[in-house]
Amino acid sequence: MGRPLYFSHPACLEHETPGGHPERPARITAIESSLAERGWLGYEVREAPPASRQLLEAVHSAEYVDAVRSMSDRGGGAFDQENIVRAGSYDAAVHASGAACAMVEALLAAGGARVGFCATRPPGHHARTDTTCGFCLFNHIAVASRHALDSLGARRVFIVDWDVHHGDGTNDIFRGTNDVLFASIHQSRFFPGTGPLSDAGARAGEGYSINLPVEKGSYEDAWFSRLEHIVIPAAEEFAPDLVLISAGYDAHRDDRQGGCELETSSFAEMARYIRGLAERTGAPVGAVLEGGYALDALAASVCATMEALAGNEPADSVAPDFFTSRAAAHIGFHWRL
Ligand SMILES: [Zn+2]
Repeated sequence: MGRPLYFSHPACLEHETPGGHPERPARITAIESSLAERGWLGYEVREAPPASRQLLEAVHSAEYVDAVRSMSDRGGGAFDQENIVRAGSYDAAVHASGAACAMVEALLAAGGARVGFCATRPPGHHARTDTTCGFCLFNHIAVASRHALDSLGARRVFIVDWDVHHGDGTNDIFRGTNDVLFASIHQSRFFPGTGPLSDAGARAGEGYSINLPVEKGSYEDAWFSRLEHIVIPAAEEFAPDLVLISAGYDAHRDDRQGGCELETSSFAEMARYIRGLAERTGAPVGAVLEGGYALDALAASVCATMEALAGNEPADSVAPDFFTSRAAAHIGFHWRL
């Protein structure tokens, strides 16, 4: 069994969004500074290859891929106010999709690694077949899932998306299929406005989309209960060959792009739930970075996730004491009411 794998590429720093844009290159440098200080947590660091056109076009239309590429080649432009393309954007997005594809290739190889993490940008989970949305150009986790199903022998892929925003692009791409089980926990009535509880998929995919909104201001108990009682049992029944996490960190209480109250340790706990599922089903697990814009919280939470996924947690990262955790205090508050 191989070491856990970490994928990134310097091209991901060349998607230079304008000053003040929250989705910025410093996100990756913050993560990598923390990882370097910690010896990369025992992960083997690999440089991501670019995704081929064939891989991208298994999810995105050729016209859309061309549109992103030509805008980059012209030196940049914008699909709209928040979806900015610069000269380096196409290359960044192609390497971000390539990282996710290389990760699933390694995870599904015989005797390969059981755990992977891709720290790449721009993020991907809002990107649809032929549109950009919410800072995302290509949908890396969808491209990698399609690759796993089409070429790597996977029959069922489970994607859990814990970004504070609904993973509408991924949900839309796999809405009609039953070979991908998609589960998203996200802030209700929030960007991009999709992902109500009633959205359970369509056609052959009916029942294969699990959308679990939480209220603004939710603490970790809201996320954990949905994972423990709905997402994990459904995923276990689904018996995936591959488990993927759309790992966004904007539900962290320090992140002003979201309105929820997760702690750094909350992400470690969610990763432990998913690691447990992966162990019970015999599937490898890989995470792909989505959002997360408060740099210190992002870097610490990525490290916490990677440690928990790899199962090499330090002694000080045991579950928080029940009586002192913010979540317990929150539950207690309501209990007394
Ligand atoms: Zn987000």
